[in-house]
Amino acid sequence: MARYTGATCRMCRRENLKLFLKGERCLSDKCSFERRSYGPGQHGQNKFKKLSDYAIQLREKQKVRQIYGLMEGQFKRTFKAAERAKGVTGETLLSNLERRLDNAVYRMGFAGSRDQGRQLILHNHFLVNGKKTNIPSFQVKVGDVVTLKEKSRSNSQIVENLENAARKGLPSWLELDKANFQATIKAIPSRDEITIPIQEQLIVELYSK
Ligand code: SF4
Repeated sequence: MARYTGATCRMCRRENLKLFLKGERCLSDKCSFERRSYGPGQHGQNKFKKLSDYAIQLREKQKVRQIYGLMEGQFKRTFKAAERAKGVTGETLLSNLERRLDNAVYRMGFAGSRDQGRQLILHNHFLVNGKKTNIPSFQVKVGDVVTLKEKSRSNSQIVENLENAARKGLPSWLELDKANFQATIKAIPSRDEITIPIQEQLIVELYSK
């Protein structure tokens, strides 16, 4: 599937928000947004003109799509699934995005970013409930156990990620058993645990046009 291969940091500058797409670099003084917190391109330092309601809704959708690393069609399908489900559509959308396996392994600390989580999953480093699972969009559910395969436990990148993860903290919907390289899904992620500044109602409004 085609993916965005351009400059990642440009997306943060475009959205005027740190999207934390590059793992440890985002927390260091190498973060491009910290050094140049204005829009990308030739006119990036010009004041933004007033955006229309549509443009504001569109930017919010793009922001969330970029945070979770989804392509346009994939994001729309995720939204439609949230719309069909019971509950508040915007909150269900965010909860479903959080329950993606690539996000879950990032939140667990095995990966430094969602994108790295996606790569590790594609390269077969994880089991879900003891079964090989190499689908980044796989939705974890309550009671699922995600385990790092034995042969991957000496992977220096993953070991380093786990060491760094302690600084970031673990959301309460996850329980990490670091000694056994596994984590359990304790609950469905709730809206108040998603602390990224997102106005999901704007996305609902965009798609209801
Ligand atoms: Fe965004 Fe991370 Fe790049 Fe900083 S380092 S601009 S937070 S992707």
